[in-house]
Amino acid sequence: MSSHSTDVSVLGLGAMGRALAGTLLDAGHTVTVWNRTPGRDAEVVAVGAVAAAGAGSAAAASPLVVACLLDHTSVTDTFTAAADSLRGRTVVNLTSTTPEESRDLARWAERHDVVFLDGGIMATPEMIGRPESRLLYSGAAGAFDEFRPVLERFGTSEYLGEDPGLAALWDFALLAAMYGTFAAVFHGMAMVTTAGASPDAFVPRVTEWLGAMLSSVPYHAGQVTEGHYRTEVQSLDFNKAAVDAITRASRDAGIDTAVVEVVRRLVDREVAAGNGALAFSRIYESIRRP
Ligand code: NDP
Repeated sequence: MSSHSTDVSVLGLGAMGRALAGTLLDAGHTVTVWNRTPGRDAEVVAVGAVAAAGAGSAAAASPLVVACLLDHTSVTDTFTAAADSLRGRTVVNLTSTTPEESRDLARWAERHDVVFLDGGIMATPEMIGRPESRLLYSGAAGAFDEFRPVLERFGTSEYLGEDPGLAALWDFALLAAMYGTFAAVFHGMAMVTTAGASPDAFVPRVTEWLGAMLSSVPYHAGQVTEGHYRTEVQSLDFNKAAVDAITRASRDAGIDTAVVEVVRRLVDREVAAGNGALAFSRIYESIRRP
């Protein structure tokens, strides 16, 4: 079967589902679509998608069914309604579900004779089909191999392993790193705007600074791997003085300190545990084994 001739059904036409369906249509696939609320298929039907009246008839139309819904409940509701039609088919769940929820869906699929692949989309809808779009998959290895040419339409596709929860675990690990970083960026932005700078003025400096600092991540990962947190340069005692000062500066500037308080708590508990002479990366240990 050549990849462009694989028929695909897409369940869920939110912002992401529409982007997935549109990308498949651009690549020449026959795409059948379904959305709970009628009318949201107009955009993709206008460019060639086939509208299905229900999740079951949509699933019945293709060997490969892609689900991109809101959450775990919406996926289980939809799969349950379409169970008879899904039998024997391959389902790729691109809905953000937790690793345990993805494993639960895989168990449901096994009971219903459905081949299950879970995926995490590391992209926004506008990025789908573009080189910077990346998707992570886990679950049925055979299904990933068979349908990989179709999945590559969405973006660079990586298979992480048979455990169906792996894609979601890596997805959420990367999202956790993103949210923490972005929250801190807005904290810094709030600080400089108290002195009259525009939010935009913060952008070149913070991106350059974070870029330079992120280059040290491999070094820190090495410390974590070896479990040796010795440092000659910046100890947690040093970091404590810095983070305490940043907290005071934030308070003096009249902004909220929630973001820096998180870092302060992590540093303080290491210092209180007698690890003040060790490196900042030691906080990994108390996060990993609370
Ligand atoms: P939207 O809110 O735009 O769409 C949600 C979709 O889920 C709609 O099609 C909605 O249908 C459907 N839905 C909600 N509840 C149910 C239900 N009980 N039964 C059936 N269908 C239901 O979200 P997105 O399209 O942006 O996101 C979809 C998934 O993709 C999410 O899990 C999200 O985390 C993930 N994702 C999104 C990214 C993004 O940037 N948008 C990035 C990476 C992942 P209805 O129209 O009837 O409400």
